[in-house]
Amino acid sequence: ALPAEDAQEATTTSTIPTTPATTKKASPALLHRLINAPPPTAISAHGSTLTLSTGATILDACGGAAVSILGHGHPEIIAAGCAQLSTLPYCHTGAYTTDAAESLAAILIEDGKRFGLAKALFVGSGSEAMDAAMKLARQFWYEVGDEGVRERKTRWVARKQGYHGVTLGAMGLSSNLPRKVPYAPLQIPGVSFVGPAYAYQYQRAGEDEEGYVARLRGELEEEFERLGGGKEVIAFVGEPVVGATSGCTPAPRGYWKMVREVCDAFDVLLILDEVMCGCGRTGTFFAFEQEGIVPDIVTLGKGLGAGYAPIAGVLISERVLQGLMMGAGSFNHFQTYQLHPLTCAIALEVQKVLRRNRLVERCNEMGKLLENDLYGALAEAKYVGNIRGRGLLWGIEFVKDKSTKEPFDPKVEIGARVQKKAFEMGVAIYPGVATIDGIKGDHVLLAPPYTITKEELRQAVDVTRMAVLAIESEIDGDKPK
Ligand code: PMP
Repeated sequence: ALPAEDAQEATTTSTIPTTPATTKKASPALLHRLINAPPPTAISAHGSTLTLSTGATILDACGGAAVSILGHGHPEIIAAGCAQLSTLPYCHTGAYTTDAAESLAAILIEDGKRFGLAKALFVGSGSEAMDAAMKLARQFWYEVGDEGVRERKTRWVARKQGYHGVTLGAMGLSSNLPRKVPYAPLQIPGVSFVGPAYAYQYQRAGEDEEGYVARLRGELEEEFERLGGGKEVIAFVGEPVVGATSGCTPAPRGYWKMVREVCDAFDVLLILDEVMCGCGRTGTFFAFEQEGIVPDIVTLGKGLGAGYAPIAGVLISERVLQGLMMGAGSFNHFQTYQLHPLTCAIALEVQKVLRRNRLVERCNEMGKLLENDLYGALAEAKYVGNIRGRGLLWGIEFVKDKSTKEPFDPKVEIGARVQKKAFEMGVAIYPGVATIDGIKGDHVLLAPPYTITKEELRQAVDVTRMAVLAIESEIDGDKPK
């Protein structure tokens, strides 16, 4: 069992697309799926399209898991990777620095300066970035505080709808019970969870947006009060726009301003997880820019390497930097492959391409098109309860009854079936099921590359519509007449 404070009813299964087995089986030696048929074998990719070993081509309308922001086969990125491999593939990054890592940090910090961001570190995955963020936050209080602070500031407040990764720290902050429960007692202690900022399912009837945010403020203040008036809390952690866990939910207006205010009032750090929603995905480089707040620590991931390299980042504010400087003046966190020259060189080129081609702006423009098309295409769909998103990150939530928002029995697997049907028609979208306090939300996500063409975007929406309508008919056909 989980520790009592972690035992919340929040769970998500972000199913990896279930697709028919291809003729070429995945290696039986690979620890992949232990029961299900192996997934199809991908053999090549270009632009927004993947080619399978069967010869089928798939328009990747979810960019993998919202990773491929620039599509595949970008010649400048490939060239930058090859150049780095042929000049300096590796050096011990504890002993040396490299132009690749320095320049990548500089380009992000240059942008981040207007938000008070001062330093960057690069690791290999979003989960590792979150663990590094947690350690930095804990060390901040260790350095700035007296013995009492060191002893007391040991706890975290996260949210029931969050997902932050698979490592022990990141898993501890996440609300994904299938990914946690089998591993207890491997849980970090001292994490508690407040309610999600998820208006479609949680804003009460008769409550306006302001009232909803005020209620969430009350809950957060109460939780901080319970934890020694905030004196025990290292940080509040959340995704500005929640990705996989609840099917892409931007917070209600004013929510993040409220969180920042409450964190400041209780002297608690604010860590924003922008692993999925950062790097332009929501139409601004950082998702928090649209909220009028700045975090103490922010993580980036998927879009940083755009799928060309496994890399994620942690950016710390001037305040956190100054805190660290008061003590050891170092962050004792060394991984063999952190700041790796190859991944940094690739991510640097990704960032240059993003800026040179004004692709964040393009993401915003294409996002408006996607929003418009999705609303139009799914207006008649009887089980689509809610469509929400920002930039090129959109979620479609299915409900059994639009008036009550009652979800489907998870056994119906509507999200997974829609995904499977769309895949059969050549378009990849991303399914998931969120269960928070008993409300189960089946959804699919669309998160295409920012470089997707208008025609491809239309195809993605058309196929999504056809898949939704086909599964709706199947479900209706199953019902007793
Ligand atoms: N945070 C968020 C918001 C994510 O979406 C993810 C990955 N889905 C992670 C952290 C973990 O990143 P990774 O899978 O690269 O470890």
